[in-house]
Amino acid sequence: MSSVWETTTTQDIGTFYDAIMLNLASLCFPDQEKSCFYCCPPIRDPEADPLDAVDEKRRLLRSNRQELQNNLDDPHEISGEECWGLGFLDDQEKQAGCLLHPLRHQGRDLRHLTGYQFKCANALCREAQVFAKLSEIEQTFCLALCRNMDSFHYSSRSNPLMRLLAWEQEMVRIIIRESLENELNISLKKNEKKSQKTDIDSRQNSTLNNFLASYEFLWQKLDFRLDGYLALRISEQKGCNFLRHNLANYIQLRDDIIVDLKKNSTLQRTSTIHLIPAHKLKIPLSLSRLLKFGANTWELPPTSEKEILQLIEVKLTPFLHLLDY
Ligand code: SF4
Ligand code: SF4
Repeated sequence: MSSVWETTTTQDIGTFYDAIMLNLASLCFPDQEKSCFYCCPPIRDPEADPLDAVDEKRRLLRSNRQELQNNLDDPHEISGEECWGLGFLDDQEKQAGCLLHPLRHQGRDLRHLTGYQFKCANALCREAQVFAKLSEIEQTFCLALCRNMDSFHYSSRSNPLMRLLAWEQEMVRIIIRESLENELNISLKKNEKKSQKTDIDSRQNSTLNNFLASYEFLWQKLDFRLDGYLALRISEQKGCNFLRHNLANYIQLRDDIIVDLKKNSTLQRTSTIHLIPAHKLKIPLSLSRLLKFGANTWELPPTSEKEILQLIEVKLTPFLHLLDY
């Protein structure tokens, strides 16, 4: 479902400490009011969500905090369902996270007691990596979308921010720029004074509402795995608003391209002895996803990049030139 399981390896990032140094941890711990615990345990069902059976989960996080010493005295291997090391991190039950993390034990890493220390230490979701590459202003915009969420809603992959970040850095940047411009235009029209403190809450609510009204279609009508590449190509030239206003035409274009990819004899040469995985081709990750999840083509001849790009341009270029709104 989510890109969260496209985790990095130690070669890419190093340890969790390196992640903190690289400012990768701020999506995990955005402020004192909440935290994300979506990736615990790292062997979990990827379809499970922190908002499933939320009352039961809340009780479990409370009991894991209370029972920590007993569990440390008699540790056991975790299952994919739950981890006894995952609990509330504070008495107010605001933040949830790993009670065995070295930062809570004077540098001693107790996560090995669950049997999955390596996976725990190296799981870093794609969303956190994308977030870390954004500028401070862009990150501030992102976190403003989650201002009043608790840890359960924040961790959920139904959180609009997590859904936005799944679209990768370039697309996220375009959307944030457009959103900020829209906000500015609305503010100018209303002649708002930004320094008025009493308006901050309502302004942030309206930021979220405006954002959802403009961009919810990205996850309600589209799928970043199928649409990430084409949507970015279109948005780079015409803006994401163009995509929204021409959605039906765009979906037809995407489906036509998928049919062409499936029919192309060069790409579907399965008798070729040497095929390589789509993500190993010299093409963007988002395009390899279109091949895999759209055209169901997971392995291809090693030099098929040119064929793929030409096939897409034949349909995409006229679409960009002919349509306008
Ligand atoms: S799922 Fe991502 S954002 Fe959430 S805690 Fe794990 S790495 Fe951080
Ligand atoms: S040991 Fe910590 S990091 Fe690992 S699954 Fe449990 S709570 Fe998460």
